[in-house]
Amino acid sequence: MKTTEEQNPFRIAQMQFDKAAERLRLEPWLCAFLKTPNRNLSVDFPVKMDDGSVRMFTGYRVQHNNDRGPYKGGIRFAPQVNLDEVKALASWMTWKTAVADIPFGGAKGGVVCDPTQLSKAELERITRRFTYEISPIIGPDVDIPAPDVNTNSQVMAWMVDTYSMGKRQPEFGVVTGKPIFLGGSLGREEATGRGVMITALEAMKDMKIDPKKTTAVVQGSGNVGFHAARLLAEKGVRIIGMSDISTGIVNEKGLDLSDIAAYLKEHKILKDYAKARHIQKELILELPCDILVPAALENQITVENAERIKARLIVEGANGPTTPAADDILSKKGVLVVPDILANAGGVIVSYYEWVQNEQREQWQYNVVVEKLTAKLTKSYHEVIDLMRKEKVDMRTAAYMIAIGRVAEAMQTRGIFP
Ligand code: GLU
Repeated sequence: MKTTEEQNPFRIAQMQFDKAAERLRLEPWLCAFLKTPNRNLSVDFPVKMDDGSVRMFTGYRVQHNNDRGPYKGGIRFAPQVNLDEVKALASWMTWKTAVADIPFGGAKGGVVCDPTQLSKAELERITRRFTYEISPIIGPDVDIPAPDVNTNSQVMAWMVDTYSMGKRQPEFGVVTGKPIFLGGSLGREEATGRGVMITALEAMKDMKIDPKKTTAVVQGSGNVGFHAARLLAEKGVRIIGMSDISTGIVNEKGLDLSDIAAYLKEHKILKDYAKARHIQKELILELPCDILVPAALENQITVENAERIKARLIVEGANGPTTPAADDILSKKGVLVVPDILANAGGVIVSYYEWVQNEQREQWQYNVVVEKLTAKLTKSYHEVIDLMRKEKVDMRTAAYMIAIGRVAEAMQTRGIFP
């Protein structure tokens, strides 16, 4: 049966916005303004490939809102990148920085490409040319990119270098998620996963679930999924399932995460991992478990599978993993969904700390970063859960209400130019 459910990420972001905005009784013009990105830049550029040929690439940088501070958000390299996806991701960044109450707005970027088919040298040339193309609209006080799907600290180092060469001076604050020795922050790489762990633990406390008697399944084994699994396991949660683009792996007794990390370092994908049972990667979401952490891409929990989800608690490590129709089904089933704009805000919170360290020419201790992140995210979690109870809405709507309220207040107080 073909589904008729909405799966365009930007339409979904707008639906989520509408649900919360209705309760806030915002004026129509303000809703229209906050639902639309301020600026959408699309760039097409040629890149020399290793075999001597030249290929054209398309990239985007969408700046959704900067009423609370400079635009902020990652850059992804993936084949499915398109303008509507980037517009949705940029909007989600605005709400994420607002729920976390850090002085940034929201933006996102992406390049349509398949990094698995590119050499390191080709990736570098794509990164540098893309950075050049978006340089007129980024900057440490304007718009600050960061890593996202298939980009990492090396890509950020190339971006810093390209941008700095153009400015003829070092500009480390232009991106976050950099290597430590190039102005990166301790604790940044694991920060999104740590945020997932922090919010999951708070939710478990609320639901009176003992982490030591709990099982979790993680969809994705990248930067977010892997660190979330590792840090949850440190708190006593048994990780019984994990997946990547190639397969799903299961072990009811608990997966050996350090063994998996070593395996992934060598083989990149889990396809032939021998120390666990393999299942179809899509079925990982339906395994019997207490906590489900979708940490891959958008539209994973849909009308097609929401009914079959067994977890009591879903903590969204990815951006946009649950569709609005699936949200309704989960809410009827009594499943608590800690929404992406709160659950995965750890990354951008530590990005903010990295940016502050760059501005101050300082390097904070790892413990300082972890303590600040924990305090910040715990506070946001409680603000959201308290409003959820008070307003009798789902947790996503409560998070949006707080975020939209903060951005709307900033916008209205600043007034309309000219
Ligand atoms: N890409 C991450 C996210 O989606 C981090 C963004 C950032 O640090 O700017 O939240």
